[in-house]
Amino acid sequence: MRHANLAPLLKQTFGYDTFRPLQREIMEAALAGRDVVAILPTGAGKSLCFQLPALAREGLTLVISPLIALMKDQVDALVASGVAATFINSSIQGSEAHRRRSGLEEGHYQLLYAAPERVMMPDFVSDLQRWNVTAIAVDEAHCISQWGHDFRPEYRALGQLRDALPGVPFLALTATATEQVREDIIRQLHLHEPEVFLASFNRPNLSYTVLPKAKATSQVYDFVRQRPSEAGIVYVQSRRSAESLAAALTAEGVKAVAYHAGLQPEERAANQEAFIRDEANVVCATIAFGMGINKPDVRYVIHADLPKNIEGYYQETGRAGRDSLPSECVLLYSRGDLVRNLKFLDEMTDAQAAEIAARQMRMMADFAEGTECRRVALLDYFGEQWPGDNCGGCDICLQPREQWDATTHAQKLLSCIFRIRQKSGFSTGLNHVVEVLAGANTEKIRKWYHDQLSTYGIGKDVPREEWAVLGRQLIREGYIDATADSFQTLSLSKKGLATLMNRTPVMLTRVPIAVKAGTSTGKVAKAGSIACDEGLFAELRALRKRLADEKGVPPYVVFGDASLRHMCREYPHTERGFLAIPGVGSQKLADYGAAFMGVISQWLEGHEMLKFAAEAAPPPPPKMKSEDGLTGTVLETLRLQRQGHSAEKIAALRGLVVSTIHSHIAQGIQRGEVKADPRDYYSAEEEAELRAAAAEHGMESLGKLREALGNRYEYPVLHYFRAFETRK
Ligand code: ADP
Ligand code: ZN
Repeated sequence: MRHANLAPLLKQTFGYDTFRPLQREIMEAALAGRDVVAILPTGAGKSLCFQLPALAREGLTLVISPLIALMKDQVDALVASGVAATFINSSIQGSEAHRRRSGLEEGHYQLLYAAPERVMMPDFVSDLQRWNVTAIAVDEAHCISQWGHDFRPEYRALGQLRDALPGVPFLALTATATEQVREDIIRQLHLHEPEVFLASFNRPNLSYTVLPKAKATSQVYDFVRQRPSEAGIVYVQSRRSAESLAAALTAEGVKAVAYHAGLQPEERAANQEAFIRDEANVVCATIAFGMGINKPDVRYVIHADLPKNIEGYYQETGRAGRDSLPSECVLLYSRGDLVRNLKFLDEMTDAQAAEIAARQMRMMADFAEGTECRRVALLDYFGEQWPGDNCGGCDICLQPREQWDATTHAQKLLSCIFRIRQKSGFSTGLNHVVEVLAGANTEKIRKWYHDQLSTYGIGKDVPREEWAVLGRQLIREGYIDATADSFQTLSLSKKGLATLMNRTPVMLTRVPIAVKAGTSTGKVAKAGSIACDEGLFAELRALRKRLADEKGVPPYVVFGDASLRHMCREYPHTERGFLAIPGVGSQKLADYGAAFMGVISQWLEGHEMLKFAAEAAPPPPPKMKSEDGLTGTVLETLRLQRQGHSAEKIAALRGLVVSTIHSHIAQGIQRGEVKADPRDYYSAEEEAELRAAAAEHGMESLGKLREALGNRYEYPVLHYFRAFETRK
């Protein structure tokens, strides 16, 4: 095994000194020949998990990637780092295709990217055998699952690949967290006892802000105008809005383009290219825009319309800040968006699907209207718990909202609902209740004689929108029940009734009704920020763009923003100094060192060298874990285990494979959370044998240990053994 060399290889090739969370563990498991499933959020550095091992092992690593644009991008970046990588697909023809194939025949490459369709082609499998494929990475592996959001039937062919190349280990990577999708990946790819790695879905460098939507176009423009040199994505619901927003921004002098599925392929590709090459700053896009983009320096994502569900919102905002630098996510929210989206559902013929969609939309609206930390709410959706009480990176935490005594208002509203029901014997929606409070003269009020209610007009002095906000808040807080149908008729809950009768004080968090259109959020997560000489940074960006254009690659392939920012703190002037910059490996030093150091020394002729305080601490470690380091999913297994269920039963209850459950329990044992005895799992003689083998071969790689023991032990036993041996 050569993987002791991973760290030097990381620095030499990619210029990084440290691994991101789980990267090293994933690489080692893969190099030990295990099948691996890696579930890491966007920006966590999944690509490196198969790229670096490809350099550490013999033979060719095949990478399955769904999109031609993605392949080309990754290969460009690898080549820029001096890695022998290539791709084959339908865009490569003639002599170029021939050249690549003969390179593959000669064993010239270490990485080969291909689309899943390719696997179906006759002869490809025998090609792979000849080309000495020793590992297969399946990127965006959730595409194999119908439960995922990007199902691609071609991915199903990959199971056959496993059968055709039985000894070759698979590494499946995805940012989709649901267990259903994960299990589907394991099943469809025929993975064997895979080691599953699941990272926290927290994105520490992203800040989340919800603003009341007023005039979306000018709100977006005001935001964009304050960030003239930054790249951002604005998501809208319809093709038409994408076009009109891009046109409006362009008219104001912003370099904006549109992106949606209705554009001609050439125009779509050109717009995407403009964005990737830093020629357009803003893409106004429907959700068709996304997966093909791994531009790491997207500094903001704005949702100008309400996303359809939280999962989508998370994935879309996740496209910001892959490079770990602070980035902003802004949602413009209006209740009207929800109402409109719900209306569209009426046209759906599948009632059950419509109901599910409606529930998801309401959850999204609850998120937007909510008064708890956005990060807590998002992570909660993925089953993670945020341990702190202030995330420091969302509108709620950065600008705590004041509490106010809403008792009088709540009394009026609750009693209005009560009186309506008392008088008419039926319930109405919130809208009507607000009309009655406001003393309006509507047809319904006349028809039902609701102008005779004692509560008619008692809320004239308060704007209707405020009553509506209060009503929705009281629903969320459980004072009022709303029916689940689209009428959402209101009645008092037990709590509401008691509050009304006993005049219990009601304290609520104040929700801003309207923020002056165009107020910038001013809320940027500090996590991951790198203070630097901004003047020099602008110069280096210009140089980067020039060099990238010469090579015909996106600027971030030359250097990422983080690398440039480090250069603008350290002002390197020697090869050694330059090599110390994160993201500078030996190839990039050779290709670009002189040019960048040239501009830096030129800059210093006319400017002072600035000093910066020690770099902000790196983003906090994954927060998903409970205090003792166990993940939510493990804790759930342990909870069931404490209730006395067997591993098989827990697997069935949770819809997971048994081996996953065993590995959860083993983690619990290792942390001292689970009381268990080694004798439940292996005999004293077996223990002696296991210990002897472990002394010789170590326990980092269970695959290696198992092999050393002639494959006579199953993985769960080895998991338990390791857990007991390292128990705290
Ligand atoms: P993902 O596929 O998980 O969204 P990527 O593989 O695109 O993430 O990586 C995101 C960014 O993080 C890239 O710009 C990559 O160069 C950078 N990166 C990956 N690993 C490291 C590391 N160990 N140290 C510093 N930067 C890293
Ligand atoms: Zn927060």
